[in-house]
Amino acid sequence: MGKALIVVDVQNDFLPPSGSLAVPQGDQVVSGIAHLMQDDRWACVVVTQDWHPKTHTSFAVNHQQPDFSEFTYTSPTDSSRTQRGMLWPVHCVQDTPGSELAPTIAATLEELATDHHVVKKGYLADREYYSAFNDIWGLHKTELHSLLDRHGINDVFVVGLALDYCVKNTAISAAQLGYRTTILQDYTRGIANDSKSMASLKQELVQNDVALK
Ligand SMILES: [Zn+2]
Repeated sequence: MGKALIVVDVQNDFLPPSGSLAVPQGDQVVSGIAHLMQDDRWACVVVTQDWHPKTHTSFAVNHQQPDFSEFTYTSPTDSSRTQRGMLWPVHCVQDTPGSELAPTIAATLEELATDHHVVKKGYLADREYYSAFNDIWGLHKTELHSLLDRHGINDVFVVGLALDYCVKNTAISAAQLGYRTTILQDYTRGIANDSKSMASLKQELVQNDVALK
């Protein structure tokens, strides 16, 4: 019957004003998330970390393309499978200040009495990750599912950055794996915040059995 909180990618590079891939207003949700982590309803708190090698395929510079270009990824194991995506500025490179958790989140985690874990994703250079459960091809799986399973978690609450990429995809993966899944919208911000993007996001969540509260 356990509930888990998943705090997605609240890392320096995703935070204004100086993060290399700052999510607009992302800094406004950090202290709220830190308080939420301390709520006694959680059986387990998981904090995820985007954790890229410098050679990561999602970095525009590695394809000699401008940041935020559209790109077609090819599956590392099957060249007939492709997927459209976006190329990013260099962000969350392993062991750099930009990949560190926001200081408030790191400090809260350190003091947390509740069972807590850090799950890294994005460390295989040849593939993009949005979900904290798996790469975009569903080939490589992180330890997140087995971790939640081992803790008897049925309900998953997802917060963090960015709503329209890693939060959304982590929530959809969780729902597909059978967890009752909710995104808490006061504790997340998106890269695209216009009303058209929000409307299509909401529709996608409904279609995938993810609640937005
Ligand atoms: Zn990334």
